[in-house]
Amino acid sequence: MFYFDTLGGKKVLKSYLLPEVRHFFTTRECPIRGNEEFFKQMLHIERIISPEQTHGSNVEIVDEHTQYPDTDGLIVSKPNIAIYLSFADCTPLIIYDNVNNVAAVSHAGWRGTAARIAVATVEKMQKEFGTKPENVTALIGPAISVCCYTVGEDVFSQLMDTVTDKSGLFKGDNVDLKKINARQLEEIGVTKIDICPYCTACDNDLFFSYRKENGTPLRHNALVVL
Ligand SMILES: [Zn+2]
Repeated sequence: MFYFDTLGGKKVLKSYLLPEVRHFFTTRECPIRGNEEFFKQMLHIERIISPEQTHGSNVEIVDEHTQYPDTDGLIVSKPNIAIYLSFADCTPLIIYDNVNNVAAVSHAGWRGTAARIAVATVEKMQKEFGTKPENVTALIGPAISVCCYTVGEDVFSQLMDTVTDKSGLFKGDNVDLKKINARQLEEIGVTKIDICPYCTACDNDLFFSYRKENGTPLRHNALVVL
């Protein structure tokens, strides 16, 4: 279950399913971009890293580099380095392995979801850190929901092709990106999944919506720090 909290007086969204690690989804009140120093102070950290998102499915591990070009999933295994990605309708994923203490944030718009970036993220954690899906907690954050997300036939079939069980993932021409990402993870053995109820278009007073706001450049974020 998700709940609102405050960080330095700014409203952020968190999940009760992930008490072990510092994480949140920002709201309209305070995007991270442009406010990096505020978040560093609030989190008592010196590094805050964000990749150059391209709607792809490349996942990288944070090291000494500061630039992560063409990267839509970032994994961190060291403490006190915050990683965050940016969203306005696309699905934010926070993934955590509580045995190896490794965390990730991924960006799953329709392209990322069609390319199964959720699974690619867990597989990269598996390969590099020995992560097992049964030890993974996944948070699926605020995104445009089935009520508002109409897609064309081609996108619809590309999304449905990513899962075996397609039940409950669409309503007419509308697809449920959050549930498709959850289903992809369930089908590789992830059981601890929390899906945020907020729709970025319906709940536009709280979050940014690319569709509802005619291509707004503003973004809310998903952040995690070990
Ligand atoms: Zn909606």
